[in-house]
Amino acid sequence: MPTAYFNPPECRRHDMGEGHPECPERLAAIDDWLIASGLSQALEHFDARPVDLKDVELAHTHGYVSEIGTMLRDCAEKGERCAVDPDTSANAHTWSAALHAAGAAVQATDLVIDGRADNAFCSVRPPGHHATRDQSMGFCFFNNVAIAARHALDVRGLKRVAIVDFDVHHGNGTEDIIAGDDRVLMVSMFQHPLYPYSGAVPKGTNMVNVPLPAYTRGGEVREIIEAMWLPALERFKPQMIFISAGFDAHRDDELGQLGLVEADYEWITLKLKAIAERHAQGRIVSVLEGGYNLHALSRSVGVHLRVLADL
Ligand SMILES: [Zn+2]
Repeated sequence: MPTAYFNPPECRRHDMGEGHPECPERLAAIDDWLIASGLSQALEHFDARPVDLKDVELAHTHGYVSEIGTMLRDCAEKGERCAVDPDTSANAHTWSAALHAAGAAVQATDLVIDGRADNAFCSVRPPGHHATRDQSMGFCFFNNVAIAARHALDVRGLKRVAIVDFDVHHGNGTEDIIAGDDRVLMVSMFQHPLYPYSGAVPKGTNMVNVPLPAYTRGGEVREIIEAMWLPALERFKPQMIFISAGFDAHRDDELGQLGLVEADYEWITLKLKAIAERHAQGRIVSVLEGGYNLHALSRSVGVHLRVLADL
């Protein structure tokens, strides 16, 4: 079975203005690298459909979905930029991008559960892990991974899924949505203190939060993962693993000060794949979060996908 790859063109039209690090070029850089390295032809490419808002409401409140929907559709009609928070804004294409980003994550989940792909990677934006039940923030509108995980549980009937978040920023939105939902184990690591300045005290017993001081390097991160994440995942025996795959903990990324390199992302992906193979029939859906140095981002996604696709 192939590795499924989603790279929706709609996601490249969302643009938060010149000089914003969460820019359309991120997806172009990833796609270029996959083509240049030959990896692209080993993946099975899928077109994303817009998400069903019923799926979005498995993770977000009805009030939030209707409010953000009205705002972003307005923005699309007027063709004007609207500000959401000091770091986050929308243009005429943001609504469509958000629908297709979450749609890709849900579709990838269905493909993997149906056995039509071993695993999947969604190269999408806007990212999702800062979006809480009822608030968009930190470049995020819909929490793509939380929506997909709830779809796997509530629509597809899985009993236990894990969410792994290795973005340099704490996935406060995902934690807000799934804290206390014992069908989900969330393991994460993040630089602390750093935006959004949360996570040091987990909000639920189904969270394994690992705050890391600035300048922590890959070797130490691996030791911590072996001590904290892997035993928890082994005990939990997830039937599927979702990855909030942010690559801004890379040494060359300017939004954080952690010291991961490509070999660390390769190691982490290998460990997660082994757990998925032992407990989850290999089922992994990985969804892009952060990663702002275009060179480091595209190379890191490359090694991540090479492991997922067994190449
Ligand atoms: Zn991040």
